[in-house]
Amino acid sequence: MKRPAIFIDRDGTINEQMGYINHLSRFHILPGVPEAIRLLNENNYLVIVVSNQSGIARGYFSLELLEQIHTYMKDSLKKSGAEIDAIFYCPHYPRSKIKEYAIECECRKPKTGMIKQAMEKFDIDLEQSYMIGDHFTDLEFASNSGLKSIMVKTGYGLGEVDFILPGFKCKPVIIADDLLDAVKWILKK
Ligand SMILES: [Mg+2]
Ligand SMILES: [Zn+2]
Repeated sequence: MKRPAIFIDRDGTINEQMGYINHLSRFHILPGVPEAIRLLNENNYLVIVVSNQSGIARGYFSLELLEQIHTYMKDSLKKSGAEIDAIFYCPHYPRSKIKEYAIECECRKPKTGMIKQAMEKFDIDLEQSYMIGDHFTDLEFASNSGLKSIMVKTGYGLGEVDFILPGFKCKPVIIADDLLDAVKWILKK
């Protein structure tokens, strides 16, 4: 049976925007996030994180650290009864330091590789699905993937709403205060 999915950006949407998260101490889950994800779990939505992590290609932090952070994220959410179904990330960036990741890939948002990876793993009802993020590339990624998008005001969101959105080709269906506000809006529909 097809299920709707909520694709969620990581930095600035789930955790506080701190630039490159190159240490576990810089990873702080934002208020309301555990409740938002728990509500999605209870309402039969798949919860899928999609994150650009070019810091890997740039040599700013290791894949081991990224995995450690994701384990920590899943474990701390689980303590609040919230479960992430999958995490997809793009470690690439063209012409960067770490050769194996220094490629022009298909998975860096706004390209749609991560949606394709998710569709291979799950039977997703894209019509009923949303992308939630704090950056214009998240909106563009949604638009390229045939997904509706929601912009949150956490992370880069507030500034994006002021400076980028007015002239931008991709429009979110709503602008929400944060992830919890976005999720409550989806569930009310
Ligand atoms: Mg972000
Ligand atoms: Zn990639």
